[in-house]
Amino acid sequence: MATVADRVFNFSAGPAVLPLAVLERARDELLSLPGVGMSVLEISHRSKAFDEILERTLADLGSLIGLGDDHELVLLQGGASLQFAMVPLNLLAGQSAAANYILTGTWGKSGLKEAMRIGPTHIAWDGEQTGYDRLPAPTDIGLSENPSFVHITSNETIQGVQWQQLPEVGDTPLVCDCSSDFLSRPIELNRFGLLYACAQKNAGIAGVTAVAIRKDLLERSPDSLPAMLDYRTFVSKGSRPNTPPVFAIYVLGLVCDWLLREVGGLEQMAAQNAAKAALLYDVLDASEGFYRGHAAADCRSQMNVTFRLPSPELEQVFLEEASRHGLSDLKGHRSVGGIRASVYNAMPEAGVLALRDFMNDFRNARS
Ligand SMILES: *Cc1c(COP(=O)(O)O)cnc(C)c1O
Repeated sequence: MATVADRVFNFSAGPAVLPLAVLERARDELLSLPGVGMSVLEISHRSKAFDEILERTLADLGSLIGLGDDHELVLLQGGASLQFAMVPLNLLAGQSAAANYILTGTWGKSGLKEAMRIGPTHIAWDGEQTGYDRLPAPTDIGLSENPSFVHITSNETIQGVQWQQLPEVGDTPLVCDCSSDFLSRPIELNRFGLLYACAQKNAGIAGVTAVAIRKDLLERSPDSLPAMLDYRTFVSKGSRPNTPPVFAIYVLGLVCDWLLREVGGLEQMAAQNAAKAALLYDVLDASEGFYRGHAAADCRSQMNVTFRLPSPELEQVFLEEASRHGLSDLKGHRSVGGIRASVYNAMPEAGVLALRDFMNDFRNARS
């Protein structure tokens, strides 16, 4: 039987490392949920046991993100990619004003592509010219007249660029794909018209996507929408219009429980994440150009640390040696190359320290 000692440090960008406590609890409860006598994999989505799981998960998640009276919180399927389409289907279809996209990396561009099928769009800023290595200065953002919404990606998972301060958009609803930094730091929910996050980066496993939407925006959804693409369906049916992904919601619930009751909340989580990311960025900065970070210093991601070595050949050697040291999945996304160390909430400090030491040793052996 596998044990904790068999586990490597997994730096995958997603699906990604889960808190050990979550895996252990899921394992312990897998044969039979306490007091239920059945596995969570076997229970009806209309059972009392699942009522409790869903209710507790929504309550804990709501508490983590500071859910108030202004927003609805729903759980959906289809990943963040379905939200690329659902957001404009609900908020843009039938509107004459353009949806504005601020493009800071690959995922934002994917979102824009879907919106272009649905209604008028406008690119308010595009970081492509510099390889998506930075955020716009406030004065660089050129919004169109009275946009129907402004879309950002809080953390571009592939490039490793993360917003530190939200852009000012006045009364326009701000829409955010926060898939890869969801629950990594406190969130100013009242600044958002809508935010969405798939779970498999930082909040659980693939199959469930969280969406928080300001109540007044629900009035925009056209009645012609298929029910399963209409946010109002998920609001009115309590995230359960049909069979939801029971196991994925259960794991999301375990992660929320871990964040609230073991970590102590998102402030504490953010402090841990900042400390972990700083360990790696310090290595880049002290490496005299051996490790070259992709993102500009003021918008470095605390979730995905992206960098290059002097040559692609050396990067290959780096990956192979790292793997032999139990440091796994460090290869950068195929579209940008290089190295990417994803250090989500669940990556223990020990993993980051091991990577830091490996990076220093690797460089010292070559200079
Ligand atoms: C992973 C990711 C996506 C895609 O998520 P899917 O659930 O695979 O559709 C979208 N946006 C961001 C920022 C991501 O990190």
